[in-house]
Amino acid sequence: MPHPKTEAVRKLISAGLTNKAIGKQLRMERQTVGQIRRELGLPDVPRQPLTVEQKWRQRTRKVPEGHLKWTGERTAAGGKPVMRHSGKAYSATRVAYRIAHGKDPEGYAKPGCGMPDCVEPTHQRDTADHRPVHTPRVQYASAEAKLAALTEPTEDGHVLWTGTVTSQGQQMLTFNGVSYTARRIAFRAHWKREPVGPVTRACEQPGCIRGEHLDDNQSRRSHQAAMQAVFGTAGHRMKSRT
Ligand SMILES: [Zn+2]
Ligand SMILES: [Zn+2]
Repeated sequence: MPHPKTEAVRKLISAGLTNKAIGKQLRMERQTVGQIRRELGLPDVPRQPLTVEQKWRQRTRKVPEGHLKWTGERTAAGGKPVMRHSGKAYSATRVAYRIAHGKDPEGYAKPGCGMPDCVEPTHQRDTADHRPVHTPRVQYASAEAKLAALTEPTEDGHVLWTGTVTSQGQQMLTFNGVSYTARRIAFRAHWKREPVGPVTRACEQPGCIRGEHLDDNQSRRSHQAAMQAVFGTAGHRMKSRT
């Protein structure tokens, strides 16, 4: 005589549920479900029938322009795409990186395509090669050429630096592996000589690196001499009047 719940069990087995899941749903012992399964001649469902990659693929959806959207679980903090498999948590972008590169990413894997949380395998970059896609590496012929490419004139005749600025506010220009202050290169480009001592700004525009607006020890001394000549004479004249 068949078990009273045989028909209900058969339906859930054909829906792909495990004995444990069916038992929970029908309030039956897992072993009883297994017995019915055997009587029906149906194979057991493996505990985790999909590989990490298969499960990952089931949770993705193609979207326009070649990106891949994550439809699966997300982390509570930050909402990052994640997935569980055999009791382990996986970052969906790390799995994606592995699919494209055949190896685990160094550090984090993040999409470099501009679409937030895109999980398209070929769009993943790891911490080691994570560079913004919009600034490809350009080879410059000289530090002066790099300077020219990374500066911008203002409407009132100054020149501003658009390149790297350190956390201390230093405008840095790196060329052939050597770092200089952008000011130093700007001075050299304009005055056609290496600056003597520190390069300082002589105009009122903060951050300005226009060559004509920069001084070194040598030009400061000649300014001072000129000033002294003017004020020295003026001082004399004023003194003689009193
Ligand atoms: Zn993408
Ligand atoms: Zn200036």
